[in-house]
Amino acid sequence: MKVLLAASEVAPIIKLGGLGDVAGSLPKALAKIDVDIDVIAPYFPFAKTEGLPLFKNIEINVAYAGDNHVVEVWKTKLPGSDVDVILLKNDEYFAGYGGRGKTNYTEIDIFSFYDTAVVAYIKAKFNTYDLIHCNDWHTGMIVGLLSIELGLERPSSLFTIHNLMYQGISVSDLLQKFGIVPGAHPLIDYDIADGDLNFMQQGLTSSDFLNTVSPSYAQEILDGLYKIEVAEIIKSREGRFCGILNGIDYSQFPREYDENNVFEYRATVKKDLLNRLGLDSSKDKPLFGFVGRLDPNQKGIDILFDVIKDLVKKGGQFVLLGSGDTEWEEKLNKLSQDKTLHDNISINTKFDLDLATLIYSGSDFLVVPSKYEPCGLIQMIAMWYGSLPVVNDTGGLKDSVIHGKTGVKFSEYSSNSLMGAIEYAISIYGSDQMKSMIKSAMLADFSWERSAIEYKKLYERILKLREDSKF
Ligand code: ADP
Repeated sequence: MKVLLAASEVAPIIKLGGLGDVAGSLPKALAKIDVDIDVIAPYFPFAKTEGLPLFKNIEINVAYAGDNHVVEVWKTKLPGSDVDVILLKNDEYFAGYGGRGKTNYTEIDIFSFYDTAVVAYIKAKFNTYDLIHCNDWHTGMIVGLLSIELGLERPSSLFTIHNLMYQGISVSDLLQKFGIVPGAHPLIDYDIADGDLNFMQQGLTSSDFLNTVSPSYAQEILDGLYKIEVAEIIKSREGRFCGILNGIDYSQFPREYDENNVFEYRATVKKDLLNRLGLDSSKDKPLFGFVGRLDPNQKGIDILFDVIKDLVKKGGQFVLLGSGDTEWEEKLNKLSQDKTLHDNISINTKFDLDLATLIYSGSDFLVVPSKYEPCGLIQMIAMWYGSLPVVNDTGGLKDSVIHGKTGVKFSEYSSNSLMGAIEYAISIYGSDQMKSMIKSAMLADFSWERSAIEYKKLYERILKLREDSKF
C-alpha cells in the first residue's frame, strides 16, 4: 500500500499548530508498521530544512488561473525516519502563510493552488499512490480534482477533520481558476447553490471515508452539538465516519527527568521559570499555565480571563503563553499591568517553543479551558512533562484526561465551573494524591504507535470498500 498524506504543514519542518505535529508524527509511526507513506506540503520560505537531506526532484507544470505555473518538487526526509517529505516550491503562491513571510495571496488562493499542484504531482508520478490522506480544509479540493482528472482510476481517499470550524470558504467564482464550469459536477453544484464554495464540504463529500481526531469529538458531531451545515453532511455519511485519537511524538519533547526524580527536577525548573518571568518565588504557590493559540471562539480565553484575578486571590500564580487574536492580546497585557496581580501573573503574547517547554515542565497545572477541542495535544504534552491538565470535559480532552487520576476536569463551559476545577486543583496542591497523579500522568501513553495501528486498519478498510464498490 502506497499512501500520500497531504497537509498544509508538517512539523518540525513547517510548524504552525497541532496539525503540523500530526502530519510530522503519524507517518513516522505508520512507516514503522510497514506502511509506505510520503507526506506532501507547500515549501514555504520559513520551512526548517537545516541539517536534513534536501534535493530537487522534478519540475511540474501546474495549470491554474488561466496560466501555466512551474512548481519545483523538492524532497527531504522527516527527521529520524525514512519517510519522504515532498515540498512543492512556487515562489509566487507559497511566499508566506499564517503570518510568516509576506504574501499577496489569501489562504484560499494559496491552498487552491496547492491542491491543484498536488493533483499535478500525483499525475506526474503516474498515479502510483493507492490512497491519498487529506487533512482539513486546506486539502479539501484534492479528491474532487483527482476525480475530474482521473475518474475511477483516482487513488482511494480519506479526509481527516482536525477542526470542523475552519472550513475555507470562498466565492464560487474561484472555480474558474480550477477550470471547472458549474453544471458539470453534482457535488460542486450542490455546494455552490448558496453562492460560495466550501473547501471542507468538498473534502467531506468527495472522499471515500472521513474521520476526526478523537472518538468523543466524532460523537459530538453526530449528536448535533455543532450546528453547522458541514456537520449535517457528516451525519449523512455516518457509516463512513469514525474518530481516532491523535498521539504525540515523544521524541519531539525531550525531558531530562522521569517519574522517579520528577519532584526535585521540576521544583528547580519552576524556580527558574518564576525568576525568568519576574514572578514572586519567595513562597510555594500553585502555578497554573496556559499555552496555545488565543482563539476566543475555541480556546476558552473568555472564561479563563474571568478567573485570573480569583485564581491569584486564592493563592495561585498564572503564566500565559499565546498569540492570535490582537484584542485579547491587548486585554491580557493590560491585565498583567494591574499592580495587585503583578507578582503573580505573567502574560507572554508570542510564539516561543522554549518558553512553552519551560511552562510544561515548571508549572503545576496546565489549564485547557477549550469550548470545544477536536483532540488537543497540549494536555498530552503537559502530562508527559508532569504538569496536571485542568480541562473542559469535551472532545479529545474528555478522551485523554482521567479526573482525579491524570488531571482535573470541569463539565460546563463557564467561568464558575472552571473556577471550581481550579479550586479543586489548589486544594490538592502538594498532597500525596497530587504526587501520585503526577506520576500517573507522566506514565500515560499517548504515543502514535496505538493510533497508527488504527489508521493502518482504516486505510486497509477503505481500499477494500473501494475494491468492493467496483463490482
Ligand atoms: P491547536 O492545534 O488547536 O492549536 P493543539 O493543542 O492541538 O492546539 O496544539 C498546539 C501546539 O502548538 C502545541 O504543540 C503547542 O505547544 C504549540 N503552541 C501553541 N501556541 C504556542 C505558543 N504561543 N508558543 C509555543 N508553542 C505554541
